[in-house]
Amino acid sequence: MEKRWRVLVTINIPEIGVEILKKYCQVDVNTKEMNLSREEIMEKIHDKHALCCGIDDIIDSQVMDSGPNLKVVTNYAVGYDNIDIEAATERGILVTHTPGVLTEAVAEMTWCLLLCVARRVVEVDSFVRAGRYKASGPRFFLGKEIGGKTLGIIGAGRIGTAAAKKSIGFNLEILYYDPVKNEKLEKMGAKKVELDYLLRHSDFMSLHVPLTRETTHLIGERELDLMKKTAYLINTSRGKVINEAALVEALEKKQIAGAALDVYENEPRISKELLGMRNVVLTPHIGSATRETRDKMSIMVAEDCIAALKGERPPHFLNPKALA
Ligand code: NAD
Repeated sequence: MEKRWRVLVTINIPEIGVEILKKYCQVDVNTKEMNLSREEIMEKIHDKHALCCGIDDIIDSQVMDSGPNLKVVTNYAVGYDNIDIEAATERGILVTHTPGVLTEAVAEMTWCLLLCVARRVVEVDSFVRAGRYKASGPRFFLGKEIGGKTLGIIGAGRIGTAAAKKSIGFNLEILYYDPVKNEKLEKMGAKKVELDYLLRHSDFMSLHVPLTRETTHLIGERELDLMKKTAYLINTSRGKVINEAALVEALEKKQIAGAALDVYENEPRISKELLGMRNVVLTPHIGSATRETRDKMSIMVAEDCIAALKGERPPHFLNPKALA
């Protein structure tokens, strides 16, 4: 079969998706660990029909205009704040993402971070490895008990709901803040509340909103000030949802007990103050990073890409108006 379509894959996605693409297309994959620069992407897409990109690739109108044959942009992520959807729609370019397949992995990561920060796992691991464990004692590395406390979920969509559901067994009260009422959570006894109420009453607060104009700096100085001094903040959504400078200040002033972060305001840069704090757990944007999930994401972007190139409606596309 003649492979008439050309695809640029800017990141080293699992082979399983690349193999699907290769059945139909000539595939140019960046197999290096470093992201392609904006200029490299613009240069490489001049003759491509599809672009498979990652969250660090900013795909705006200028980038799209350097690919006059582009029919589809498939984002290897569920969040799509890196893509100018309006610009794509105006150009008739379909945009797809990877909803659902990563929900469980990110919800698990949320709990991993919550447990690690509450029980000081990273801090004690360093302590043990440094050879400093000579004896234990009744006041040794006291953490925060999780059972019976209140978990606040900000953004009760797919991941927020899955994270809340995993609280079964910890016997937590669940509060959530979302413009939309969530029947699944209501059935579990969760309460839909206003943001300030959630901030005042949560012992653990977990962010799961998409990054939009409204959610940028949703958590800043005022919000951190409303939180309990004993509360922990967990973020697996997007870094810009938190004003990182305000978070640093709140942690320095002990306005909250700690934070566990997978995402940062200026990724991959992290405020240097955070790096020195023991009550902070830091991971490098690996919320969906399980082998199983990354394979499913790879298949999803490849299948959506092929569907779009064939002129079909890809199951996970975001901009139906682009077809108009
Ligand atoms: P989703 O669309 O299912 O859920 C988002 C929820 O946020 C929705 O219920 C929506 O109503 C709510 N929301 C929107 N604006 C809000 C606002 N201003 N205030 C309160 N709630 C608001 O999305 P999802 O699949 O659950 O993913 C959520 C986000 O998680 C993604 O957009 C992405 O940014 C992030 N994410 C991060 C990783 C990671 O590796 N750390 C991986 C996957 C997703």
